[in-house]
Amino acid sequence: MTLPKLALSATLGLGLAASLAAVPASAATPDHTRSAASAGYVPGAEEKADTDAFIKAVMKSALAKRAKAPSLAAAVTVTYSASSAPTFKSVIARSTQIWNASVSNVKLKEGSNPDFTYREGNDSRGSYASTDGHGGGYIFLDYKQNQQYDSTRVTAHETGHVLGLPDHYSGPCSELMSGGGPGTSCKNSQPNAAEISRVNQLWANGLAALQKKDLAKAH
Ligand SMILES: [Zn+2]
Repeated sequence: MTLPKLALSATLGLGLAASLAAVPASAATPDHTRSAASAGYVPGAEEKADTDAFIKAVMKSALAKRAKAPSLAAAVTVTYSASSAPTFKSVIARSTQIWNASVSNVKLKEGSNPDFTYREGNDSRGSYASTDGHGGGYIFLDYKQNQQYDSTRVTAHETGHVLGLPDHYSGPCSELMSGGGPGTSCKNSQPNAAEISRVNQLWANGLAALQKKDLAKAH
């Protein structure tokens, strides 16, 4: 979806003001590469909001595991590790509960050999979801931004990218993927009906594609 230029630059000011506010350079700065695709909580946090690359990497990883150990469960399980984001342990658990209670075709589960990881630290760009360019993905949670904005909303928003949703900063607070667009007072951490439906649709399609491939292999 292309964002209207005017709406984007209007919220860009707010986002930049928040993300540029004197954050000292820190050793905790993640070792992400600038070439990796990422999507942020506020506009300007992403080089290119390439959510497609992110969901493809995570879906490929989750579906490959499922193909090796076929399950009768209707939902695809996406595993994550929160061990590199200890400060956000409870917030990540809450975000997982929110998503698992909302969508039916994909489920999040903490576990080993994760499809994606959560990380924490200081980054002038704030929080974002990113692919590492090697088929893996991670969510980076920025300390300062998680104090300015509702931390559960930030985490559930970034997790929404993992599940395939793009940013829509011009949307209302009732939309999870409007991110930092509606401002720091917005504390809604629930995806709306359209966002839930989009995630279910994306993962149903991914599963159908995998089953089609398996059938082709069987013949
Ligand atoms: Zn985002």
